[in-house]
Amino acid sequence: IFAGPIAFLKSAPDLKFLPDPVAKEVAFAGRSNVGKSSLLNALTNRNGLARTSNTPGRTQELNFFDVGDPAQPLLRLVDMPGYGYARAPKDMVRKWRFLINDYLRGRAVLKRTLLLIDSRHGIKEVDHDIMKMLDDAAVSYRIVLTKADKVKASELAAVADRTMQEIRKRPAAHPDLLMTSSEKGMGIPELRAAVIDALD
Ligand code: GDP
Repeated sequence: IFAGPIAFLKSAPDLKFLPDPVAKEVAFAGRSNVGKSSLLNALTNRNGLARTSNTPGRTQELNFFDVGDPAQPLLRLVDMPGYGYARAPKDMVRKWRFLINDYLRGRAVLKRTLLLIDSRHGIKEVDHDIMKMLDDAAVSYRIVLTKADKVKASELAAVADRTMQEIRKRPAAHPDLLMTSSEKGMGIPELRAAVIDALD
């Protein structure tokens, strides 16, 4: 389905701007600079679909992309605003929490969230925050390690191990991690499968 049309639908800075829930949604979340835009572009095989951010923490919007005929989309990809930007003002963080919480809790068409974690850093405190929000909202999620090309194979194995240990402590059950590199195209077929699989 990623070979067909994919188009930006709209940005929602606020819940009242959400598109009508006419298609199933798969959302992408992660800290600022985790490589989310690059991964969305690799997933859809389109450069510049999601704008790679040079100003971390700037966009505080949910961005929606229609996959398939926009009149009858097969799926919507949702680019969630990055979090964990150290210098983000407090009211921006508060706004982020409200937006994300309300979206996660109220969106019946949201089938899965892919939670991106930088292979160099592993799970951080702020990632636990969003995992709690996902668990509380009963949204199923899968962990995706990004920028796998940036670490040695042994380090990647170690961070994967540590990450699995962390997510096994969470209340919901989680399948294996996906290990990806947008740069090298690693794990992209598996990521596509994980998105399509969420539509069942
Ligand atoms: P976002 O803020 O999460 O959307 O992150 P971006 O996609 O804008 O990526 C942040 C930075 O990491 C950019 O400089 C990217 O070129 C770089 N980057 C993203 N993905 C990869 C990857 O798979 N490998 C490497 N080496 N760099 C990456």
